[in-house]
Amino acid sequence: MLHDPTGTLNIQKQYALSIRRAYRQRFHEVETLLSRLNLGPTSKEGFKEKKVPSSTNVILNVLTLAFHDLKEIINHFIKRTFEKAHKDTARVMNMQTITYSEAKLQALQNMNYHYIEKLSKNRIAKFKEVMEQGMSEGKSQQEILADVKQSFNAVAWKSEQIARTEVVRAYNKATVEACKTSAFTDTVRFFTERDENVCPLCKPLNNKLININNMQNALLFPPLHPNCRCALHPHIKVEEEETDD
Ligand SMILES: [Zn+2]
Repeated sequence: MLHDPTGTLNIQKQYALSIRRAYRQRFHEVETLLSRLNLGPTSKEGFKEKKVPSSTNVILNVLTLAFHDLKEIINHFIKRTFEKAHKDTARVMNMQTITYSEAKLQALQNMNYHYIEKLSKNRIAKFKEVMEQGMSEGKSQQEILADVKQSFNAVAWKSEQIARTEVVRAYNKATVEACKTSAFTDTVRFFTERDENVCPLCKPLNNKLININNMQNALLFPPLHPNCRCALHPHIKVEEEETDD
């Protein structure tokens, strides 16, 4: 069982699952399209000239559509995370709600999309290369489909990793924002995963108190690495003074 300092493991899982579903759905489309095109080495030359460009484009278009599907998924899950962080912070501070800025939320959504878009552009280029090579080598339709599937799985896996990490980022950024908005505290506490998976980068920061006006240093702002689960929690001074006495 993973330790979950941000309390977002459930959102992360659903997010990753939605991404996997989106890719799987598009992959089925590719399968159908490829079978309609009826690729298959008849004559190698004809294959190269006619079928390679058209089928590559068809598949690349579908892949591009898969990234479009992700936009809605990203916006949904980052919003849920952002709202959860504001609710959690309000609860700690005994406040009803903390109103958040729509612009700050959108900035986080865009940042997440940007990472996945960057990934997609790299992968599309690579993907095109692999496919064209496979086709010009006269690979069978099944072999090409296997290559396509592998590429889809690789992109999906990496996108899921980005999603998990970005949920942690959104949660922590929103927590700091909520602290700033409420003006209740200017300090947050760094919580690591506290299990065997905690990395050497995060470990020394466990329990460290950080002033939120002093967070330009990216090494204090989790995620510090892909799949980092560390959290920033609002720190209430009164409580601390009581326990210290
Ligand atoms: Zn960490």
